[in-house]
Amino acid sequence: MEISFAGKRALVTGAGKGIGRGTALALARCGAEVVAVTRTRADLDSLLLECPSIRPVCVDLGDWGATEEALREAGGNVDLLVNNAAYAMLQPFLEVTPDQFDISFNINVKAALHVSQIVARGMKARGTGGSIVNISSQASQCALRDHTVYCATKGALDMLTKVMALELGPYQIRVNSVNPTVVMTEMGRLGWSDPGKAKTMTSRIPLGRFAGHIHAVLLLISYLYSAFGKYSDPLTCFPFCY
Ligand code: NDP
Repeated sequence: MEISFAGKRALVTGAGKGIGRGTALALARCGAEVVAVTRTRADLDSLLLECPSIRPVCVDLGDWGATEEALREAGGNVDLLVNNAAYAMLQPFLEVTPDQFDISFNINVKAALHVSQIVARGMKARGTGGSIVNISSQASQCALRDHTVYCATKGALDMLTKVMALELGPYQIRVNSVNPTVVMTEMGRLGWSDPGKAKTMTSRIPLGRFAGHIHAVLLLISYLYSAFGKYSDPLTCFPFCY
């Protein structure tokens, strides 16, 4: 099966590195017009060298006003949205600090909500429908040591995704999440570079190894492409939405 996004505009957040970068490149290769949003200019510069058709937007998604401004034009006419940008900081529960809590929720939950609002308003106004994928994590379902705040943000993101699926479904906007286990990106290395720690995780994965970021990219692209996806698909949405 050939996947083509020709004629579609896709917006990917956190497109400078890791899974987001891989997603932006894969969507462009599949024919989409891609808007890549991230906050490090150098990452956008190197992304453009790799794929000159990508449209760069440099903004800190933690800044509500700046995001509104940056996406005023680029966020319109979007058919496919991937909320991928996230922040992870490891702290044991008893040492969690309020600033880390606020930064994490601001990016991992509030920015996903905000960018989705901007994009979904456009989809609703145009009456064209669309597809949104939020990149959550296994950490939304499983308690991970030193991941208190990260786990909590991803649990919140899962519930945000379900309510978005419920409320945006009538406009033919599909909303789903993918919940990867560890992927060895910059973020993945932060928590799982230590072989001892990694073993506790890989020993629970049937194939005994972590995924490459391309696995995550392929799964989320399948959610973008088709009705397939756990929350919005008429076949699988129950019991997630009521
Ligand atoms: P990376 O840390 O490799 O990349 C994250 C990207 O998001 C970077 O380009 C980063 O830019 C950008 N970003 C972060 N904060 C902001 C911000 N405030 N404004 C704009 N851009 C921002 O992460 P991964 O690729 O590993 O993770 C991608 C997604 O997958 C995340 O949602 C993560 O939670 C999820 N995930 C990852 C797993 C893993 O093991 N890697 C496992 C499960 C889920 P900059 O570098 O400039 O900050």
